[in-house]
Amino acid sequence: MERIKVLQTASKGYAKGPVYLVKRRELIIPRRTIAAEEAEEEIKRYKASVNTAKEQLEKISGDSEIFEAYIQLVQDEALMAGVISKIKGGNNAEAAVEDTADEFIQMFDSMEDAYMKERAADLKDIKKRLLYALAGITENPFQGLKVPSVIVAEELTPSDTADMDFENVLGFLTEIGGVTSHVSIIAKGRGIPCLTGVKGICGRVKDGMMAAMDAGEGEIFLEPTEAELFEFAQKKCRFEEQEQMMEVESKKPSETKDGHKFMLCANVGNIEDIKEALKSQMEGIGLFRSEFVYMMKKDDFPTEEEQFQIYKEAVLLTKERELTIRTLDIGGDKGLDYYTFEKEENPFLGCRAVRLCLKMPEMFKNQLRALLRASVYGNIRIMYPMLISVEELERANELLLECKRELEEKKIPYRADIEVGMMIETPASVLMADEFAKRVDFFSIGTNDLTQYLLAVDRGNEAIAGAYDSFHPAVLRAVRHVIRCAHAHGIKAGMCGEFASNEKASAILLGMGLDEFSMSAGSIKAVKYRLRNISFKEAEELAEKVLGASSAKEVKELI
Ligand code: PEP
Ligand code: MG
Repeated sequence: MERIKVLQTASKGYAKGPVYLVKRRELIIPRRTIAAEEAEEEIKRYKASVNTAKEQLEKISGDSEIFEAYIQLVQDEALMAGVISKIKGGNNAEAAVEDTADEFIQMFDSMEDAYMKERAADLKDIKKRLLYALAGITENPFQGLKVPSVIVAEELTPSDTADMDFENVLGFLTEIGGVTSHVSIIAKGRGIPCLTGVKGICGRVKDGMMAAMDAGEGEIFLEPTEAELFEFAQKKCRFEEQEQMMEVESKKPSETKDGHKFMLCANVGNIEDIKEALKSQMEGIGLFRSEFVYMMKKDDFPTEEEQFQIYKEAVLLTKERELTIRTLDIGGDKGLDYYTFEKEENPFLGCRAVRLCLKMPEMFKNQLRALLRASVYGNIRIMYPMLISVEELERANELLLECKRELEEKKIPYRADIEVGMMIETPASVLMADEFAKRVDFFSIGTNDLTQYLLAVDRGNEAIAGAYDSFHPAVLRAVRHVIRCAHAHGIKAGMCGEFASNEKASAILLGMGLDEFSMSAGSIKAVKYRLRNISFKEAEELAEKVLGASSAKEVKELI
């Protein structure tokens, strides 16, 4: 009998069953110095391992697009060149693969950005595949999975999830991996309850031990008592009823009980995300983080043409729906392989996002021209991040105008009525919202950054994570002020920070008049359910009440 509490939920839901503990065969990596004449043979062995890994991945890639990226990574030119050069330098294939992959992993791991950290996890998986192939091992750690079980593992890689029989998977518990890890994405996609970051769980369970998990609440019961099982069954029953209701409701219009309309959109980082989002009930893309287009490139900034092709593909997918593309938001925690940022004391307060773009106008204009060119295929909206002053906005718009003129000269079409908006994510933009509202077509509030700047709490610092709270009245009052300024000047106010996907927050935000909620596609159903089951009047009253609160704690007590 043990009850474990976990802070973050990767995928909601209930599971109960015997534990299947994933055990991996210890891989001993032989390391030796080789003679020059052995190099060719070692390179051959290495290339054969690449082919084996590629074949394995191709076999499973039908299941998920994640593996397409893996196949690219396994034969990545920089990785291959690194391994071969180490073999030529006198290392056997195993040592060369391990050392080269580790160098790349370290590089990705040292980036603050959660997405890039996950790429380090991908590389670890690739490294393991190559080393297993070199050792001639094709063992599947899931071959013993014969009955429906709760899978417990130190870490689960996408290839692991491809090797398992999902018929027998009730839930996932892993020690490593964040809410944006692949196991979380796969679990969410398949509706499997999943908790990640459960420190020490492998040492606390045994194969076959009974486990129950309530992933929504972040609770795990090991060898639960009768009373715990009863409580668990009741909650599970309520959850399932609600899930069913939400599924039905999600197909209905986005409006409150009294007919007030709102819009639910998705946040994406690439084309695959858009395809995934199209499977949900999303009504548009409220945030396309274009920095991922830049991060995917390894050698140089993406050209205008390369970007045009990507934005065109995106807009052809989203058709007449709005597709809000945020211009390059790099710097802070997000780096680029091919560009060295100046060393800064405070990168989050440094030369990032639109500031960097304005310092590199030709680079910025490549993106603006690509966006304008793609705009003729649908409904692209341009969105600037991190603005603090009207001058910055005007400078960005001047460059946009130059791009329009250049295209006109070359007789290249673009949509003259393309909307241009901005993110509100700095305290300055909140206080200047009335001035900004006269000059843009829409606002989108970025609560992830706005919270950190308003409260002066680093959004990535775990030691002060408790102080990072978007329910802080300062954040709520800022949001209300921004919405009011937007409406006073006849423009719409949206939100694309994580706060928009918080079911409890959504009613308050609606009551404040928020027009558009943008979030990861998986959260749309729950927010829609919440908002369809409240009247606008009730939401307004709730918003009024919480805006009078003097602390985040008080706000949470009121909702
Ligand atoms: C935000 O700051 O709220 C936001 C949506 O942008 P990002 O998380 O990419 O900084
Ligand atoms: Mg931001």
